[in-house]
Amino acid sequence: MEEKNNKRADLWDIAVALHKASLTSHEDIQKWDRHASAFASHSLNGNVFSIGVANQYAADFYAGLYADPLRTALVKAGAPEDVSVAFTVTESAERADAEKKRRHMEQVRSEAAEASAPARKFSSTMPLNESYTFDNFVRGPSNAFAYAIASSIAKEPGGHTNNPFFIWGGAGLGKTHLMQAIGHYVIDNNPSKSVCYLTSETFLNEYLNHLSTKTMEAFRQRYRNIDLLLLDDLQFIGGKDQVQEEFFNTYEGLMTYGKQVVLTCDVPPKKLNGFAERFITRFQQGITIEIELPSYETRVAILKSKARNSGHVIPEEVFAFIGENIRSSVRAMEGALNLVVRFMDANPNMPINQQILQGLLKELLEDDDSIRRLSVEEVIKAVCSFYEISYADMIGSGRTQPLATARQVAMFLSRKLTGASAKSTAEEFKREHTTVLYGSQSIQKRIEVDAKLKSTVEQITENLGRKPSELFEDNM
Ligand code: ADP
Ligand code: MG
Repeated sequence: MEEKNNKRADLWDIAVALHKASLTSHEDIQKWDRHASAFASHSLNGNVFSIGVANQYAADFYAGLYADPLRTALVKAGAPEDVSVAFTVTESAERADAEKKRRHMEQVRSEAAEASAPARKFSSTMPLNESYTFDNFVRGPSNAFAYAIASSIAKEPGGHTNNPFFIWGGAGLGKTHLMQAIGHYVIDNNPSKSVCYLTSETFLNEYLNHLSTKTMEAFRQRYRNIDLLLLDDLQFIGGKDQVQEEFFNTYEGLMTYGKQVVLTCDVPPKKLNGFAERFITRFQQGITIEIELPSYETRVAILKSKARNSGHVIPEEVFAFIGENIRSSVRAMEGALNLVVRFMDANPNMPINQQILQGLLKELLEDDDSIRRLSVEEVIKAVCSFYEISYADMIGSGRTQPLATARQVAMFLSRKLTGASAKSTAEEFKREHTTVLYGSQSIQKRIEVDAKLKSTVEQITENLGRKPSELFEDNM
């Protein structure tokens, strides 16, 4: 007994282990660990076991929670039967706490200083976002092709293949990030090249400014000596003929000299609104790639990478919850994650659960209606690309295998994932609605016995950014 008392570290370690063993939930254990990290010292003097904390508030708070259970654990660990537990304010704890606060303030200050430091020097009209690098870009099936082209352009900008590089896709899917990653790479690895990033809206505003101050020549000059032009959100100048003409002159000038142009847009070139046909034709001369909706796996991988950069330890269920409930925009997913992080900061002792997440993210969650926003056409396209058949064949009259199966799979997935009526689905397939219902039911039965077909159906569902489990919910 005496020996144990002499080894106070042991006594404490054993008591802590016993106390933790008495906790039943993972959350209670996490909470204990968080709290215990604030205990700066511990010592047994006579029959008083003192635990040092930073201030009186903490002392009262922890005494209320732990004085009794720790006393029990200490006795079990070999402390005197009449031991009492006291939380006391100690200088060392105060100092440690003050030091922690000071370091935190220092970090805040240096971050603020960094943020207000002048942007890095290069000829870009708008600064690049420092975190939009290739390293920070998570690859998945939805963006792998775009990523591959972007990285090959970054290594060797210019020339006539992959020029222009036209990236399109929905909002918040990573177009700007990927485009700027090319810019960062070239700036870092090829300092002699001048890189210019701007949105088409900024181009328009600059154009108007120079026009009104009659300094068009300076404006043109500015864009003449660029090696890599990154023009974001091209769609914005749709219908604005004059500025389009001006942009096109710049564009043609750069192309003539084999300079690299990268464009992003919310639609592919052929669907551009308010652009002259000859511009569209020129934009199609390089390579056009869509960034698609990320799959569930990719969504979770992106969240984890953002969490890593945030420096917080985030419970797994947060990723699953956000990944399952926010599907259409990475930006919205990031917003959700930030809310959770802020909540965790403000409530370090509160374990995160489904209910908290529901409440916290209510505004961001995509309700069933928006989740069902997939159109029958999108489903058909995904099935076509999986089976490598054309849209025309899909809705045509051919009945050969695997065409017939592919068609029924598309019918099944349309029923499961789009929420469109049987009638409008049938119109899309150019068939009777009973044919659609029959086709769909036939796949439903087959996947119960055909594992390969089941995994095909699940894969296409994933490709559409949806969770295979939805297929087995009762919503036919
Ligand atoms: P878009 O330009 O397509 O609207 P952004 O490039 O602005 O979208 O991306 C929105 C947010 O999502 C950014 O913070 C970006 O870093 C993030 N993001 C999108 N895709 C990825 C990805 N694959 N990996 C990491 N972050 C991503
Ligand atoms: Mg963008």
